[in-house]
Amino acid sequence: MLDHLEFKAPEPKVIAGAKSDWELVIGLEVHAQVASKAKLFSGASTTFGAEPNSNVAFVDAAMPGMLPVINEFCVAQAVRTGLGLKAEINLTSAFDRKNYFYPDLPQGYQISQLYHPIVGEGEIIVDMGPGVARRVRIERIHLEQDAGKSIHDMDPHMSFVDLNRTGVALMEIVSRPDIRGPEEAAAYVGKLRQILRYLGTCDGNMQNGNLRADVNVSICQPGAYEKYQETGDFSHLGTRCEIKNMNSMRFIQQAIEYEARRQIAIVEDGGEVVQETRLYDPDKGETRSMRSKEEAHDYRYFPCPDLLPLEIEQAWVDDIAATMPELPDEKKARFVKELGLSEYDASVLTAEVENADYFEAVVAEAGDGKLAANWVINELFGRLKKDDRAITDSPVNPAQLGAIIKLIKSDKISGKIGKDLFEIVYTEGGDPEKIVEERGMIQVTDTGAIEAAVDEVIAANPEQVEKAKANPKLAGWFVGQVIKASGGKANPKAVNEIVAQKLGL
Ligand code: ADP
Ligand code: MG
Repeated sequence: MLDHLEFKAPEPKVIAGAKSDWELVIGLEVHAQVASKAKLFSGASTTFGAEPNSNVAFVDAAMPGMLPVINEFCVAQAVRTGLGLKAEINLTSAFDRKNYFYPDLPQGYQISQLYHPIVGEGEIIVDMGPGVARRVRIERIHLEQDAGKSIHDMDPHMSFVDLNRTGVALMEIVSRPDIRGPEEAAAYVGKLRQILRYLGTCDGNMQNGNLRADVNVSICQPGAYEKYQETGDFSHLGTRCEIKNMNSMRFIQQAIEYEARRQIAIVEDGGEVVQETRLYDPDKGETRSMRSKEEAHDYRYFPCPDLLPLEIEQAWVDDIAATMPELPDEKKARFVKELGLSEYDASVLTAEVENADYFEAVVAEAGDGKLAANWVINELFGRLKKDDRAITDSPVNPAQLGAIIKLIKSDKISGKIGKDLFEIVYTEGGDPEKIVEERGMIQVTDTGAIEAAVDEVIAANPEQVEKAKANPKLAGWFVGQVIKASGGKANPKAVNEIVAQKLGL
């Protein structure tokens, strides 16, 4: 559906002010918690915020003799994600042990997929403003276990371990180094999050650590990235540093900017960037070294002997493919093409899957995309924002808003009365049609009644009549008077016509 679209790539971010120009090269490893009630290899619950160590199966606590059993649903979620990123699905994948010691990792290893990930190459189109987008290639997605949590700040003399998160399924989504600036990196995470939420494969709650990114940053001189693109040879690129565990788009941008400046200063001073893992300190706005870069062999990766290779069937993948939802890009294009919305309105309404669902339900009821878009964006969002409420918690449901719009469309009420009605439904609830009838809000389109009201205003204002006859623009004053006298209920179109006719305009 999007094949016809042509994207203009944004310019790479050039950092000026240094001795020479530098460009940024960025690649992201995003850890997305799989939306699943149970963990990757156990039936323990994944509920966030539960009593510490209450969601722990024996296998999560690495009790001797316990064996992992793969959760089919988590595998399906990874496949669904792969399909959503237009990626290859590997019918055979395998699990490896990544060995390291940490108190919140009782197994002494993390089960991951280094050599044979479940999903191969895909892509994400990252929007950078109207008609401008970057295609970021996805290298792979693999399934792995999350670790537990160490808590150091409860008691100055003690550390605690909470194993609730141990064994929760993560998808690690690895991009190619195709991202060329801090804004793009944030937009990439935003777009990925949006797609995952549409797919229902990750809740994308960054504050809860549902989605976190390791950000790899290097600098190079103009032209070097293009050489890498032509040859696939990484040696054209600069040495990268990896900033670990970022869970805010704003901090991702800040950390990249700091890191770029730091690396440029080192290189322009005649030094060399050392490949290492760094941490971002948002209070200081700096990254600092955490450890030197570890390589795969440091983890003594080897195939996990407790798990057979994971074999899935094409027919099963096809079944999942048949239940794919419409994704944000397609939805946005359809809103523009079929409902006649502007690009901007379509982006606003598709930004969050809940907004899109709500909007579509309103359209289904109201039968008018443009009016529905206006009402949802201007009235509903505005009103919800005032109360700091989420759309999922809206006091006006889509059927009610659709009914209000229908009343306006059919000229039963004016747009202005519609706003009053909206406020009533918002604060008191109820069926809009009944409210309109019970409270006498129905618009007067009865020409007899309007004619009488126009006659009255004309009779009471002979001077204005003379003025209006000389200057027809002043007829609006009469229209205003009549509508006011009707308590806003007179149909403006009918009033306009009758006023013009009576004044002989
Ligand atoms: P590791 O898992 O050891 O960190 P990977 O080869 O999986 O190493 O790469 C991790 C990430 O680093 C990928 O997202 C990749 O795009 C990115 N990356 C690789 N080289 C560079 C570079 N020179 N500059 C920026 N990012 C890079
Ligand atoms: Mg890494």
